Amino acid sequence: MSIETEHVQCLIIGSGPAGYTAAIYAARADLKPVMYTGIVPGGQLTQTTDVENFPGYPTGIMGPEMMEDFRKQAERFGTQIRFGHIDKVDFSGPKHSVVVDGIKTITADTVIIATGASAKWLGLPSEQKYNGFGVSACAVCDGFFFKGQDVAIVGAGDTAAEEATYLAKLCNKVHMLVRRDEFRASKTMVHRVLNTPNIEIHYNSETKEILGDGLNVTGIEILNNKTSEVSIIPVSGFFVAIGHNPNTEIFKDWLDMDETGYLITEPDSTKTNIEGVFACGDAQDKLWRQAVTAAGTGCMAALEAERYLAAKEHAESEVQATIA
Ligand code: NDP
Repeated sequence: MSIETEHVQCLIIGSGPAGYTAAIYAARADLKPVMYTGIVPGGQLTQTTDVENFPGYPTGIMGPEMMEDFRKQAERFGTQIRFGHIDKVDFSGPKHSVVVDGIKTITADTVIIATGASAKWLGLPSEQKYNGFGVSACAVCDGFFFKGQDVAIVGAGDTAAEEATYLAKLCNKVHMLVRRDEFRASKTMVHRVLNTPNIEIHYNSETKEILGDGLNVTGIEILNNKTSEVSIIPVSGFFVAIGHNPNTEIFKDWLDMDETGYLITEPDSTKTNIEGVFACGDAQDKLWRQAVTAAGTGCMAALEAERYLAAKEHAESEVQATIA
């Protein structure tokens, strides 16, 4: 099979708040950005409900709708947005090269990585066995299937708190499994959970096993790590909301990353260890991980890409002038 090749000035990988913001800035700076969305166009926010803390939306907005606004704004300035997954990269330079869906090679002067992060799983075999048959890592996507039923959710951060209250609106009862005796989530979110009558919190509780009848989930076995008591809760849905892993696997041979896979950038910058390659959003930020901070670093990445190209062009014209 022949492999098609194309060259672009600015390639953006990923389409969450970081990627779209980078696209808006890069397009307005005439870098003619080409964006590959990845397999979840719009990223994690397309799997959430209300976003109440993004400036500019005084009455809040639904995550998918907000990402649609981002997309339209990026397209308005000429970003080419394409559905596709980058399988492989080669940053041996001077032009950076990537392979899209195994069939197309793109070379780029600058690459902006905005690949975000993906949900973590507990790692139980039963979780894998019933994934899609009662087990889910996205309450917003799958909660509807458990309307009027009893479900459980594991996790104690903002995601778990948000998803538990979402599920509580649909389901009869939500059992929330918190492994310590306190939440990690913000006070506002915890307050919401505590004030939702059909959420029952099980503190100091770990999931030992997800039980099923071979086809669907029928319950969970939990261990109280203070009393060592094991109990069974009948549920038909089990939601995992225990955090995320950065989507950076394809860069591991080229870019510096920490022990958990977050890309390392220079202080106050989105520059990676490879010239012309910039990283922004949740792939690079394990501390703040907010849509607005992701958008902020996306803006930085585009501005840095623009400066990098301008400096390169200037250096090249000086060389030409010397030769002449
Ligand atoms: P977090 O890393 O904040 O929380 C993960 C939670 O899962 C923790 O409570 C952790 O427990 C628990 N956990 C991890 N591993 C296990 C395990 N094996 N078994 C049981 N429990 C486990 O991730 P989130 O996805 O909740 O949030 C990520 C970031 O996104 C945060 O900064 C958050 O504030 C932000 N966010 C903001 C929202 C908003 O503002 N609307 C909505 C959602 C997220 P422990 O506490 O014991 O470590």
